Amino acid sequence: MEGEKNPQIIILFDGYSKDEESSMLANCTCTLIKGPPNIIIDTMTAWDGNRIKEALSHNGINCNDINFVICSHGHSDHIGCNYLFPKATHIVGFCVSFENRFYAINFKSGEEYIISDKIRVIPTPGHTLQDVSVIVDTGNSVIAITGDLFENEEDLSDDNIWKSAGSDSEHLQIINRKKILEIADYIVPGHGPMFKVQK
Ligand SMILES: [Zn+2]
Repeated sequence: MEGEKNPQIIILFDGYSKDEESSMLANCTCTLIKGPPNIIIDTMTAWDGNRIKEALSHNGINCNDINFVICSHGHSDHIGCNYLFPKATHIVGFCVSFENRFYAINFKSGEEYIISDKIRVIPTPGHTLQDVSVIVDTGNSVIAITGDLFENEEDLSDDNIWKSAGSDSEHLQIINRKKILEIADYIVPGHGPMFKVQK
């Protein structure tokens, strides 16, 4: 559409994960899509509220300016600060809601949630059986924000990394990783910096 601005992808926080002796330290990659519509993807842990609010205000955004919260899946390090965004539609894995109203989107059968002609939410199960990814056309390239479908760039050459991060279906995860690698120029993984897909 003429005059329509391309969405801008801003990584607010790079995720990480590292094994300690009997536990693991991890937090997710948190991404802002600056529109309109404004979208935040994966809201870290419940202890990160102040950091997220600060990072948004550095980008000229208030919590009430966020139109969509999208969580790639329902684990606690990806949904912790959803409560900061009461004006947004919330998409947590396959679950789409606003306040107490829930919307039937048949992600399970492959249905996509179209936010605009440049932004869509697609089912990419594997890490959990209800994982979603956000596909963004920025005008120059296609960026896939995938949550833990990809743990980090290194997992491209070492399957053990994404498998040991937990996979409810390795079979589905392999299929969906392949699909994303085909359609994306860049991937924002669940626990590492954005990387370019080598074609
Ligand atoms: Zn995670």
